[in-house]
Amino acid sequence: MKTEFSLAQLADPDIKEADKILRACVHCGFCTATCPTYVLLGDELDSPRGRIYLIKEMLEKDKPPTPEVVKHIDRCLSCLACMTTCPSGVNYMHLVDQARVRIERDYQRPLTERLLRSVLAFVLPRPDLFRISMILAGFARPFAALLPTPSVGAANPGLLRRIKAMLALAPRGLPQPGPAAGTVFAPIGRRRGRVALLQGCAQQVLAPRINQAAISVLTRHGVEVVLVKDEQCCGALTHHMGQDGDALARARANVTVWQREADQNGLDAILVTTSGCGTVVKDYGYLLREDKTFAEPAQRISALAKDITEYLAGLELAPSTQKGDITVAYHSACSLQHGQKITQLPKELLSKNGFVVKDVPESHLCCGSAGTYNILQPDIASRLRDRKVANIALVKPDMIAAGNIGCMVQIAGGTSVPVVHTIELLDWATGGPRPGLN
Ligand code: SF4
Ligand code: SF4
Repeated sequence: MKTEFSLAQLADPDIKEADKILRACVHCGFCTATCPTYVLLGDELDSPRGRIYLIKEMLEKDKPPTPEVVKHIDRCLSCLACMTTCPSGVNYMHLVDQARVRIERDYQRPLTERLLRSVLAFVLPRPDLFRISMILAGFARPFAALLPTPSVGAANPGLLRRIKAMLALAPRGLPQPGPAAGTVFAPIGRRRGRVALLQGCAQQVLAPRINQAAISVLTRHGVEVVLVKDEQCCGALTHHMGQDGDALARARANVTVWQREADQNGLDAILVTTSGCGTVVKDYGYLLREDKTFAEPAQRISALAKDITEYLAGLELAPSTQKGDITVAYHSACSLQHGQKITQLPKELLSKNGFVVKDVPESHLCCGSAGTYNILQPDIASRLRDRKVANIALVKPDMIAAGNIGCMVQIAGGTSVPVVHTIELLDWATGGPRPGLN
């Protein structure tokens, strides 16, 4: 794609990067076929190629985003299916991230939307506040039926509709909190490694059982696990809302504490059980590339970051207790399959450990979760969820497995089949408890 940035514009490293990305696009349109919003809405401006044009125009002309541009960028799930499909290697992720930062900086959203976004950006990354908000939401849940229902294709869903979506996602009860930051879990038997386990923010409130399962599997196989003190939310939530100041501050804080832990006590890896977070931690090196102090340490941290399944693939797991009578539909989270290019590993681990693993038809399409997307774009998100659940039903599973809490909550909202994390099944197969209670 031809670009026309001025020399002065190209002096900005972000614009230089955007120019490189835009020039890689040959506007072939292959990406449109796998883009969930294009598949649903059929509008070129809701396709990757359409959005790339809109972003090019906005950056090149250096003009404030119009409501039309904001509408189509907001509708993008950042699922990155387009990056998997693109034959030219266009890094849409880094381009749309720039567009979101520009929108956040230069566009004045309606007051109610600004308020909602501020609340989400403030509450979600703070587990204590998030816990309180979930308790309050649990009380308000019975009144959700009084709020407006989805209006399919609405350009900008109203505040009440979004509150209704938020309440629908709130759990009926919350589990006890998991172990405190700073805890070190000793390995059982011969020591084979030492890892940090990202504690996460929403996940540690909604499903601490996931990291507990990870700790059980790891320690059972000789790996020491540390929950690093002073670790923060990885920054993914605010990063995807264009709030880069917050996201980069969190990235720097995490790089600092993880680097200290690695230097003082040694770390073979930083493990992540929420693939949305893993994608961002693996990108810290890129996000902090212009930061003289943090560029190098961030690269080191990104190189240490691994999805839990990547690390387990290098360990010889204990013989499975599974008898091959549980059929699992494996939901491939976008952040895992498109963001981290991990597609086969989780399925291979599950198969090797005695589960009958089924691929879900249209597995490349997002379930609609996408961070805060199911709150901010509830109508598109619920259509994608229904489509995902219908596809899952085709393989008649006993359980659904996924590697991302956002997907788990989203899918569980549309089915009575138990939705579990891949690591819970691996824990069960190697001596842990049976999972399956949503
Ligand atoms: S598939 Fe890649 S090169 Fe083709 S239009 Fe989409 S982003 Fe551009
Ligand atoms: S990230 Fe997903 S929703 Fe956004 S343009 Fe790409 S395929 Fe479409």
